[in-house]
Amino acid sequence: MKNVISAVCVSCGAEHEALPGITTCRKCGGILDIKYDYTYIRSQLTRKQLEERRENSMWRYREFLPVEGTGSRPKLRVGWSPFYEAKALAERLGVAKLYIKDDGVNPTASLKDRASAMAVVKAEEAGADTIACSSTGNAASSLAGNAAAAGFSTYIFVPERAPKGKVAQLMMFGAHVISVQGSYEDTFRLSAEAIDRWGWYNRNAAINPYLMEGKKTVSLEIAEQLHWQMTDYVAVSVGDGCTIGGVFKGFKDLYEAGFIDRLPRLISVQAEGCCPLNRAVAEGRPWEPMEENTLADSIAVGVPRNPDKALNAIRESNGVVVNVSDDEILAAMRLLGTCGVFAEPAGAAGTAGVKKAVEQGLIPADATVTSIVTGSGLKDVANAIKAAGEPIAIPPQMDLLLEAFRKTGGPR
Ligand SMILES: *Cc1c(COP(=O)(O)O)cnc(C)c1O
Ligand SMILES: [Zn+2]
Repeated sequence: MKNVISAVCVSCGAEHEALPGITTCRKCGGILDIKYDYTYIRSQLTRKQLEERRENSMWRYREFLPVEGTGSRPKLRVGWSPFYEAKALAERLGVAKLYIKDDGVNPTASLKDRASAMAVVKAEEAGADTIACSSTGNAASSLAGNAAAAGFSTYIFVPERAPKGKVAQLMMFGAHVISVQGSYEDTFRLSAEAIDRWGWYNRNAAINPYLMEGKKTVSLEIAEQLHWQMTDYVAVSVGDGCTIGGVFKGFKDLYEAGFIDRLPRLISVQAEGCCPLNRAVAEGRPWEPMEENTLADSIAVGVPRNPDKALNAIRESNGVVVNVSDDEILAAMRLLGTCGVFAEPAGAAGTAGVKKAVEQGLIPADATVTSIVTGSGLKDVANAIKAAGEPIAIPPQMDLLLEAFRKTGGPR
């Protein structure tokens, strides 16, 4: 990989060779970050060359990715998700411009596909045949799907609270699924022990430094879809912190390679009932574990696995932190619904955060904002119904339809 220099520890600075199977720092156990040669990347790719590419997936950015090629195995089409300007919603929220990046339309319906697609390519490079992870749900279903397409076997650990839609995906993709009666923290610990014991390829958040490199492609796309004119802010929901870390890495890579000339400020959105990272930023002190009290299961992470990269990303981007209540998340799901975008609770949390940041004066009314929808509402229909309610239910009779319309203010 001529574009990659090394894997650097974010805690002690030790540099490691970027081998396919690396996990955490051999010296101190810290989390690794892939370091690139931006001069080389600049010499290989221009904005114009990129724009002319027909490859409509995350792999169109191969010069920015830590891979030799994309492997010999079949793969799902991950990335190049839709990017919408939401004019009516911008007006309602009170910002100058609002763009929605809908990553819920990825093959297994979340942004996690970007990380899992990368994990599968690296697992092939590492010569593995089994991949494992623990997850609040979406990392699991995306790994199961991407691995199934490529012919890998998977062992997947999910907390018992994982929504049915996500578990159904796991079963459908033929994963070996272990539903752990405990928290995400308990689930993670058990998976780590099992991975150690059986030597599976590790797709656990933060432990595998390549995952974030996959996730960062969402930012490469956003920048390209904005024709390299970045919005002032980019909002994203935060659990373990890998997504926001990846989002920032993508923008930094583009900046270092001369593709964009300013970095957006990040809006880090967590749930009020589980916001260890935002609390650390707001109070200017180290993070501490919190309970996992939110219906947004994908960001119900009391012990974040990637706190350092997430906190760096928020601070270095001069970011804004916002915590949203479950009711605010449900309201944001309805707002996205008015744009034809169906988000799961954690997927809508970013947009809930934009609304609240405006209301609290944390971002100005002339701001331009991109909000990333990280997962589809079909993953969690119980909460979608909670947000949007039940339909009119009647026997098949016109007089009853008229009566129902009279009551609900329908057509006369
Ligand atoms: C995983 C996930 C997040 C948060 O990503 P982290 O890396 O855990 O911070 C947000 N939304 C959805 C839908 C997710 O699946
Ligand atoms: Zn280290």
